[in-house]
Amino acid sequence: MLDRLFSPLRLGPVEIRNRVVSTSHQTSLVHDHLPTDDLVAYHRARAAGGAGLIVVEATAVHPTGLLTAHTIGGYLPEIVPVWRRMSAAVQEHGTRLMCQLFHGGREMIASGTRPPAVAPSSIPTARFKTEPRALTRAEIAEMLEGYRQAAAFAAEGGLDGVEVCAGFGYLPTQFLSRHANARTDEYGGSFENRFRFLREVLEAMRAGFGDHGAVGCRLTDESTSDVGTDPDDVLAAAAAVGAEGLADYVSVTLGSSPTYRGSTWIVPPAATARNAVEAFARTVKARTPVPVIATGRVLDPADAERLIAEGACDAVGMTRAQIADPNLARRARAGERVTRCIGCNQGCIGHYHAGVPIACTVNPWAGYERSLPPPPPAETPGTVVVVGAGPAGCAAAAAAAARGHRVVVFERAPSPGGQIRLALAAPGHAEVADGLLEILGWWLAGAEVRHGADASAADVLREQPDRVILATGAVPHRPAIGGDGVSIVDAWDALAGAEVGERVVVSDWGGDWTGLDAAEALAARGARVRLVTSAVAFGEAVHQYQRNLYLARLDEAGVELVHHLRPASVGPGTATFENVFSGRLVELAGVDTLVVSAGRTAGDALYLELGAAGVAVERAGDCLGPRSFEEAIREGTLAGLAA
Ligand code: SF4
Repeated sequence: MLDRLFSPLRLGPVEIRNRVVSTSHQTSLVHDHLPTDDLVAYHRARAAGGAGLIVVEATAVHPTGLLTAHTIGGYLPEIVPVWRRMSAAVQEHGTRLMCQLFHGGREMIASGTRPPAVAPSSIPTARFKTEPRALTRAEIAEMLEGYRQAAAFAAEGGLDGVEVCAGFGYLPTQFLSRHANARTDEYGGSFENRFRFLREVLEAMRAGFGDHGAVGCRLTDESTSDVGTDPDDVLAAAAAVGAEGLADYVSVTLGSSPTYRGSTWIVPPAATARNAVEAFARTVKARTPVPVIATGRVLDPADAERLIAEGACDAVGMTRAQIADPNLARRARAGERVTRCIGCNQGCIGHYHAGVPIACTVNPWAGYERSLPPPPPAETPGTVVVVGAGPAGCAAAAAAAARGHRVVVFERAPSPGGQIRLALAAPGHAEVADGLLEILGWWLAGAEVRHGADASAADVLREQPDRVILATGAVPHRPAIGGDGVSIVDAWDALAGAEVGERVVVSDWGGDWTGLDAAEALAARGARVRLVTSAVAFGEAVHQYQRNLYLARLDEAGVELVHHLRPASVGPGTATFENVFSGRLVELAGVDTLVVSAGRTAGDALYLELGAAGVAVERAGDCLGPRSFEEAIREGTLAGLAA
């Protein structure tokens, strides 16, 4: 079982012990452009968990190549001792460590004051609204020296190699792309000229690192972006870097930064296809003689084994898979259960785009490896009562049980999950919900679960608890909307199957999952749906790649989008809204049902009842203040650990 996945592989002069790779991904565990001790601990945990190779995140080769204020500066001499600490921490577990040398060119996300963007040509890019200036030949030489110097610092720091980020529409592929490169000198025009920069980058990296380390080249399928690199140019580059010995391996994935549609595939969320990279990997593998590492929604070790066995690739990037379960490799090898990434994109890339350190919704330790120890055994095991088996309650139960306590969980519904179960009815959210429910079920395995009734204070006290944790969740906020002549249905009820008319208006208060899910689910049930938001933008509160997919699917389903309105009243066949900016009233006609998503209210009745009885309790998740399941799981875990 999994014998190919756990066989060694040579990447030029470097052998990796198995083919499970943690590929380059942004963590924001970076301060003053240097990796923090938290980043060292983060990668140490994945090395200890059995990864064969870790490639550290984008490491800029020049100050103009910083994507954000939290990008590593590989050109800084101060990075050498940090690389040494990280190499030692990772390599002592038998894992190889490399870093990804990076320049974003005209793709630049954010920083305090933005440096001027540079690119092969002065062609603006829409997604990050950047207007670059064209690099001079002298500046190109400066960039190449940056790649050489950063590779030399990586070698001095004890890394096993370096790879270039030559995908996603960043600098090397801006040179390669006919759409981003309008130069008329030796760096523009023919393929050979457009490829010249990447060739010189790889040569500079080899010269800087020396022959003892691996040099890799990361390429992406940019075919989802109309201004990305054309597929024939990407494939020609993959062939050339292998055939000419410029790189010891090619690392392939998907996505293209300059457009919304292309960017979605950089970290493809649920509900895109599993193993999304497979077709591209096969195409590259057929063209290049060097090993191919393939990354993109490969969640399951059995799928990774199949991809290698079928010759689609030689190693597999299981990056989010190891954010969710840092022990994935070790557990898979031992035949143990693995916590599977649910594809929500919230704690990983979502945190990155929000400018905050990496986390993971289903792994509360991700990003906190240094500061949050594993559950210590309780000094005096006792009884912990948890009320509510949503994400917070299940996480609390798991952490308390891991400490050795007897755990009793009260849950009014016949099965765990709380609000998450509603998302099972939503086409775009069902995979996330299904994956999360499976994990919550595991977390409850060590607890006595009393299903079926609202727990009272007497029920709780009957268990003689040493500690009580309330995770009683939230209920929908139902704003008063005057008038009649149109049925008004709460969005939760609509998702649960409540009857609606043929012509539905979904009123979404904040751009979160609920309004989007209700609109999509009702359209799938055959209703004619208008989705009205009072937020500035649709999907404002979900990660941008999820948002992009929602907006694509809603467009394909014929859902009409109406901006900037909040509900005011209803009349016979009409719903009246108010523009949130101007105050202007807008009447929508032809309405049978108004479905309302208007936020939530904390469920605190039992907290007040227990408080009146003088019982000390801890609260976690939405009953403290409604937020997402990420906060619920983290707070539940902390409450369970404190028990
Ligand atoms: Fe996967 Fe979500 Fe964790 Fe990211 S936050 S690694 S998508 S489970």
